[in-house]
Amino acid sequence: MSDYNQPLSGNEMPRFAGTATMFRLPVALDPSSVDVGIVGVPLDIGTSNRVGARYGPRQIRAESVLVRPYGMATGAAPFDSFNVADLGDVALNTYNLEKSVGIIERHFDALLQQNLKTISLGGDHTVTLPILRAYAKKYGPLAVMHVDAHADMNEEMFGEKVTHGTIFRRAIEENLIDPKKMIQVGLRATGYAAEDFDWAKSKGVQVVPAEECWYHSLEPLMEDYRSNLGSEHPVYLSFDIDGLDPSCAPGTGTPEPGGLTTTQGIELIRGCSGLNLVGADLVEVSPPYDPSGNTALLAANLVFEMLCALPGCKKR
Ligand code: MN
Ligand code: MN
Repeated sequence: MSDYNQPLSGNEMPRFAGTATMFRLPVALDPSSVDVGIVGVPLDIGTSNRVGARYGPRQIRAESVLVRPYGMATGAAPFDSFNVADLGDVALNTYNLEKSVGIIERHFDALLQQNLKTISLGGDHTVTLPILRAYAKKYGPLAVMHVDAHADMNEEMFGEKVTHGTIFRRAIEENLIDPKKMIQVGLRATGYAAEDFDWAKSKGVQVVPAEECWYHSLEPLMEDYRSNLGSEHPVYLSFDIDGLDPSCAPGTGTPEPGGLTTTQGIELIRGCSGLNLVGADLVEVSPPYDPSGNTALLAANLVFEMLCALPGCKKR
């Protein structure tokens, strides 16, 4: 029997009852004994179209009650491997994006003083920039595995430098990311300009449009990424749920047709196993556009897969 936090079993308390923390784990007020902290970042004032991602963390937690502790295909046993806890939400300023971005950075600065990894629940994709700012202070320029329909590499939006569509350009400019160690998967649909994906490519980012993913497994792609990168360099995984097709993930702010399948999303995360994954996020779930709950349920399962992909996760 493990000393680590265990999810409350669905055979002890019905899944629809009890407190809906992430994976039915305890909430930790003190992160010092936590190996992996789940952090909600309920921000949506960085969005350019539909809002609602502020409700993402709460809804992903609510749907996560169905996730059980063992991965049946991989044998992964994350809750026997790490002490995982729900660290609650960041207390944002709902009126001011710039201030909220500062609040998020300071929140993660404090968390990363501890010897822990974080998996964050968005919130819109803006949240990733301050998280990367905090991570880069600890690890230096990170490798980034980015799943998204969009490059999020715009120079600005409405004249603003920090929005959910500009974060990775800022992160590269600020040297938070090593662009030669970054891969973007699932990019597609329509752009503001025909050259929208080119700036990242000019910096050395590996851009994999959705069309290159259609109809086949993404295991070979991840095998290549792993062998190029090796198992040492710190990697951050940022998963925008709109990377997946709206048929599997309709509850999001800027949906684009022709996206990745659920299976491919899982392959991308499982393909991070063997990398030095130090943190991750799952962003852009918008519950008001998710009446079935399927998008949040999928997100909860993808977060489970992220836990399973962390270095040191035991396999049964
Ligand atoms: Mn995004
Ligand atoms: Mn997106």
